[in-house]
Amino acid sequence: MHYTGTIYRPPFEARSLLLQVTTGCSHNRCSFCTMYRDEQFGVEPLEQVEADLQEAREYVPNVTRVFLENGDPFALSADRLEEIAVMVHAYLPKVETIAMYASIKNVIGKTDEELKRLRILGINELNIGVESGLDDALSYMNKGYTAKQAVYELNRLGAAGIDYGANIILGCAGAERRHENAAATATLLNETKPYLIFTGTLHADPGCPLYEDMKNGSFVESTFGEYLDEEEELLELLDLKDCYLFGLHPSNIVRMHGNLPEDKAAMLELVRKRREQLAGRLDERPARYGEGAVLF
Ligand code: SF4
Repeated sequence: MHYTGTIYRPPFEARSLLLQVTTGCSHNRCSFCTMYRDEQFGVEPLEQVEADLQEAREYVPNVTRVFLENGDPFALSADRLEEIAVMVHAYLPKVETIAMYASIKNVIGKTDEELKRLRILGINELNIGVESGLDDALSYMNKGYTAKQAVYELNRLGAAGIDYGANIILGCAGAERRHENAAATATLLNETKPYLIFTGTLHADPGCPLYEDMKNGSFVESTFGEYLDEEEELLELLDLKDCYLFGLHPSNIVRMHGNLPEDKAAMLELVRKRREQLAGRLDERPARYGEGAVLF
């Protein structure tokens, strides 16, 4: 298989065939993100995609899931995605789902009819960095959309039968706004019904504007206690069915996962226990290492 640039995938795509169809990220301006900072967005030639599929057919002919790379392949036109999906099924007939990272901005350019066509071709379970339901937090993070737009576009996906997983950043509105952020984000999620929620806490590596803001003190990160407040409130306000919450990213203050609503009480209990374990340190701000992993 041919890969260029750094290849990322969500943890639950570990068994998927990773098929590169783009390079970099078409937005590449989120204030906290350094994933593709030094890479240009580009489109892989179809000949290359086909060559990769030919190779994949040799090694994994029975694969059932493909994850398109890289940062937001859903930025491709519906026609291009359709061509890729047709090619995937031609070479790998057992594929049921073609997933990928996507952004709200990628959905804006596609008609309802196009979305339905893509769903029929197996494109589903998009992984979207929604981050927050609070407009000023979205604006500060330079996401390029408002909460209202996010709700509208995510519901268009839903109407086309395309499920989406939402990435959420706890602490992204700052400590003082944690209650508002939890409430606004819960409202957005309740209104758009993701099949999966991926939580993490705010962190930034050198090379992005947020890192500079944190360093010079213009953005003050939440403390352990404030993160736990926000997560507890978000969980309490979520009113979702058939949704899997994945909170195992190492940037989380409490690691947990479970189904909503069945495991909600158990996850809330984990938050409360973590608060007890961190008693005496609740006013500390987390020290971190790679990928925002928290040092306890
Ligand atoms: S967070 Fe996602 S959309 Fe934003 S710059 Fe990074 S890869 Fe692109």
